[in-house]
Amino acid sequence: MRTSTEFIRSLEDGRTIYYRGKRIENINEHQILRIAALHAAKLFDYPNRIYEDEKFGQISKFFKIPKSKEDLLDRHELIYKTTMFCNGIFNISQAIGSDALFALTIISRKLDKKYGTDYSKRIEKYYEEVAKKDLTLAVAQTDVKGDRSKRPSEQIDPDMYLHVVKVDSNGITVKGAKAHTTQSIVADEIIVIPTRAMRSEEKDFSIAFAVPTNAKGLKMYCRPVDEVEGNTSSVLSKKDYEIETITVFDNVFVPWDRVFLFREYEFAGALATLFATFHRFTAISYRSATANLYLGAAIKAAEANGVLKEKHVRDDILEIVMYKEIMKISALAAAIMPRIDEEVMIPNPIYTNIGKLYSNSRFVEVIKALVDVSGGIIGTMPAQEDFESEQGQELEKYLRGALDGRKRIEIMKLAKELASSSYAGYMITLMAHAEGSIEASKLELERSYDYGEALELVEKVIS
Ligand SMILES: Cc1cc2nc3c(=O)[nH]c(=O)nc-3n(C[C@H](O)[C@H](O)[C@H](O)COP(=O)(O)OP(=O)(O)OC[C@H]3O[C@@H](n4cnc5c(N)ncnc54)[C@H](O)[C@@H]3O)c2cc1C
Repeated sequence: MRTSTEFIRSLEDGRTIYYRGKRIENINEHQILRIAALHAAKLFDYPNRIYEDEKFGQISKFFKIPKSKEDLLDRHELIYKTTMFCNGIFNISQAIGSDALFALTIISRKLDKKYGTDYSKRIEKYYEEVAKKDLTLAVAQTDVKGDRSKRPSEQIDPDMYLHVVKVDSNGITVKGAKAHTTQSIVADEIIVIPTRAMRSEEKDFSIAFAVPTNAKGLKMYCRPVDEVEGNTSSVLSKKDYEIETITVFDNVFVPWDRVFLFREYEFAGALATLFATFHRFTAISYRSATANLYLGAAIKAAEANGVLKEKHVRDDILEIVMYKEIMKISALAAAIMPRIDEEVMIPNPIYTNIGKLYSNSRFVEVIKALVDVSGGIIGTMPAQEDFESEQGQELEKYLRGALDGRKRIEIMKLAKELASSSYAGYMITLMAHAEGSIEASKLELERSYDYGEALELVEKVIS
């Protein structure tokens, strides 16, 4: 199987990346971006990541198509544990791509049944390539969307949603841009799927496909990594972070064997929703692990301040425990009460979306809890440069708590990063929007929820 060193070397393939206004020729030589690459590479060092697949031989566990409740439980554990292995930061590199491949496996079978197409063969071939080569994948679903009150076909500029601009016997050419593509710069491949349901006049927007990250015409514009560059005392982000890009498809060619949906507009919505369900199951699994960062930091900060035994501090800590465990409970419930479609086990959409909605609204309470126990110092503390300067000792003297100054400062640096920095702002945004907006989860919950039992009960009571 692939090693982390082989993976790191493979990134030097001419892919087009921009960071802070400059073209980056080699990520591995870039002081900031290389952290995202090393984070992705950690997946290849995770112990026991390989299993023996009856069809493909030895492959990554991420690519195991769930066929049972146990498979879904194992997947939850894999995502939880790989997140813990990466210091509490999700490692998306084979998770999001496999979420998309599961959804595409189901939809391709439905398409073939309806239209006599060969999409499932294409997906199987692509699946085999990805699994056997042990590739990393990004998924570009979210279009840049333009005016949100207008549909894709109503936009002033048609490029607001990725669409087909040319078709020939070899394949299709696509144009447009996707936003927020996580870890695209360190992915081997980018899978593209529609962001929403489409109508008959939106056939050209109804496409799914995969391209290598160094495909001609593919450009990736990174977000700035403020959590490292803007916070010299950051601890976590210097070790692990994930980066997103605006991913521009400037007339990118896709050969037919890598096209997985082509103008069958009636399947765009189902594909988008199915991917979202798999991906939200992934989300609640990693969010439970990430909560450990906040929980551990809150306990340590309370200890450093000498307030661990205070009643309101206990409430703060329990708020984080609730968050962590509700994420886990939702994932476990989604795994043990799945739905099955085309022989693939799908996490229960109700428990998946309830878990995600809880994290959407309650993550700010987690931040608030950590801010409360840490005190104002996490907003006002001097910079790393001050602690390292001649004045460092004086600062240590005055910043002592129940622990000596040096130890307390180390804890408060992490608490600041997690709860009172650009990273905290990024995390609030991530917890509200990543894996789909709040409204998207509510719509799906409403759609899949059965109100029958409650209505029957009330009918019985009032009749
Ligand atoms: C950290 C992070 C990582 C991400 N990673 C990925 C990734 O790897 N791949 C990927 O494809 N996406 C990714 N996303 C995108 C994520 O799924 C979207 O952010 C989310 O779906 C919201 O879309 P948006 O950002 O375009 O927000 P908008 O759609 O602009 O939302 C803004 C507001 O407008 C509302 N709104 C939008 N459209 C309508 C409408 N038609 N009617 C009524 N209200 C509307 C929304 O509900 C929301 O309240 C990521 C996002 C984040 C923050």
